[in-house]
Amino acid sequence: MTTSTTIINTDREPDNHRLLIVDDDPLILELLGIFIASYGYEYEAAGDGREAMEKIDQGDFAIVITDMIMPNMDGMQLLRHIHEQHPGIGVIVVTGHTGTFSYTDVIKAGASDFISKPFNSDELEAKINRIFREQKIIRELEYLSNCDALTRLYNRRNFDEKLRDEARRADRQGYPLFLAMLDIDRFKEYNDTFGHQAGDEVLRCTGAALQQCIRKNVDGAFRLGGDEFALILPQIDADQARQVASRVLNTFQKNCVYGETGLSIGLARFNRRDGAFSWEEDLNDLISRADKALYRAKAEGRNRTVCDD
Ligand code: GH3
Ligand code: MG
Repeated sequence: MTTSTTIINTDREPDNHRLLIVDDDPLILELLGIFIASYGYEYEAAGDGREAMEKIDQGDFAIVITDMIMPNMDGMQLLRHIHEQHPGIGVIVVTGHTGTFSYTDVIKAGASDFISKPFNSDELEAKINRIFREQKIIRELEYLSNCDALTRLYNRRNFDEKLRDEARRADRQGYPLFLAMLDIDRFKEYNDTFGHQAGDEVLRCTGAALQQCIRKNVDGAFRLGGDEFALILPQIDADQARQVASRVLNTFQKNCVYGETGLSIGLARFNRRDGAFSWEEDLNDLISRADKALYRAKAEGRNRTVCDD
């Protein structure tokens, strides 16, 4: 049995340290660019609020540093847009026009911080780094609230959200979506015989086996609770879904089995029925069919896959 405890969810995104600097004065933009490059961060520049908004809507920025008084679209309008549409982005307002917008105004509009011209590079760097630290903490908290501590797979809460999103995308883009429900066989007996800690190791090992057998950034693996797991498998047909299940069974057998455990899998395809049924009803129907297939797998002798017809 594998005893590694360092399994992590592999589709976590790396930290984003890209900045956008916004000012209608090219000299200020150049100076800000030199400062930011000296802190070791990547940046892009925009000459007014409208250009900045276009870049923000298309790009992936962690922090925007913006002037307030600019042609086309001023800093306050840009700030409101970011606050409404991209609440995860930190905004530092830079201004020499003190009195036009107060500290309270910009913080109320959603700015993370404020720096006055002429600005001090050390102060700017400290403020940028503080925002990056806070963003990292928020990401960690979001991750932990969606993640199962034992297996490091996503948890039930995340499963419900992902299943809904994936089903809607599959329906919109017209491709099939499969759900696999998995349950370890005779796991109670295993715990009773080998102890709870050995049982935990089987759960961790099962989590690792699932991660190993699915497509990174396409499929999703979840621990729903106890010895129950699920896989969300978009863009595959029934044969391919069976192949994934078969790979999972083989990997589980090879790496995780000790004693009499096995793994039972129920597979079902998402089916958007005509207008009489709501999304929620169709998703419940999918889960119920996958569960029934899982019970059949148990009833037919365990350690096998059954696909709902
Ligand atoms: P079946 O083949 O029908 O699935 O039988 P089973 O023994 O696996 O029964 P069931 O799935 O109902 O039992 C799940 C067991 O999983 C019960 C509980 O003791 C154990 N369990 C639940 N959570 C944990 C956990 O976090 N760690 C450990 N070690 N055991 C757990
Ligand atoms: Mg079980």
